[in-house]
Amino acid sequence: AASSSEDFDFFYFVQQWPGSYCDTQKSCCYPTSGKPAADFGIHGLWPNYKDGTYPSNCDDTKPFDSSTISDLVSSMKRNWPTLACPSGSGEAFWEHEWEKHGTCSQSVINQHEYFQTSLGLKQKTNLLGALTKAGINPDGNSYSLESIRGSIKGSTGFTPWIECNRDGSGNSQLYQVYLCVDRSASGLIECPVFPHGKCGAQIEFPSF
Ligand code: 5GP
Ligand code: 5GP
Ligand code: 5GP
Repeated sequence: AASSSEDFDFFYFVQQWPGSYCDTQKSCCYPTSGKPAADFGIHGLWPNYKDGTYPSNCDDTKPFDSSTISDLVSSMKRNWPTLACPSGSGEAFWEHEWEKHGTCSQSVINQHEYFQTSLGLKQKTNLLGALTKAGINPDGNSYSLESIRGSIKGSTGFTPWIECNRDGSGNSQLYQVYLCVDRSASGLIECPVFPHGKCGAQIEFPSF
């Protein structure tokens, strides 16, 4: 049986827009493999409870082990790039996500499945495709939050949560997109609870 700390209700699958990580007052650093593609990148797959709380750092006996994901590393570099400074390969980011969040999902998925599932979800949700098909492009213009949410809902079938941050001039911009995944990690669901935070009614979609 799962320990109580592993007994979560659903996952948030969180993707970040690199342009919005990089244009804030803090800047960013490209990974050692070079500037990532102008696409959403994975931030993490986060077990959550339906009351809005979440478990973290559930199992320090299962450290990140890159040898278990050697078949996934080239795809991870493209789809889960790190933008934190100083520049890194991505391993430190993946290790952090596994140890903080992934270790809490082990009643359902192991380390290889944690990363493989995340890569599959990114492929399947194709956020940039959903947005650009609706005429919402990463061009520094502002778009209504409603049109952004609507295009992602129309394309994935599920209601996203949009997290905003502020660019260097203080404008609200599209930073992260949250979608929910059922606890067996088999597919998207409507979110049982949304995170908190506020965007403007119109938000910027910066270039990268
Ligand atoms: P922040 O405070 O920047 O929103 O979040 C910091 C970190 O806390 C996130 O990167 C993530 O690891 C964790 N976190 C924040 N909000 C949530 C949440 O609603 N659910 C889960 N599972 N983790 C969260
Ligand atoms: P969280 O706890 O917020 O899930 O994870 C964020 C941690 O991962 C922070 O320590 C942050 O410095 C690190 N990190 C490394 N690369 C990235 C990145 O590209 N985006 C974000 N949001 N955090 C990153
Ligand atoms: P409603 O849920 O009634 O559309 O919006 C309630 C409040 O949440 C409004 O202030 C709206 O700007 C904000 N809001 C709606 N959708 C999102 C979203 O996806 N992300 C964030 N951060 N705020 C949202």
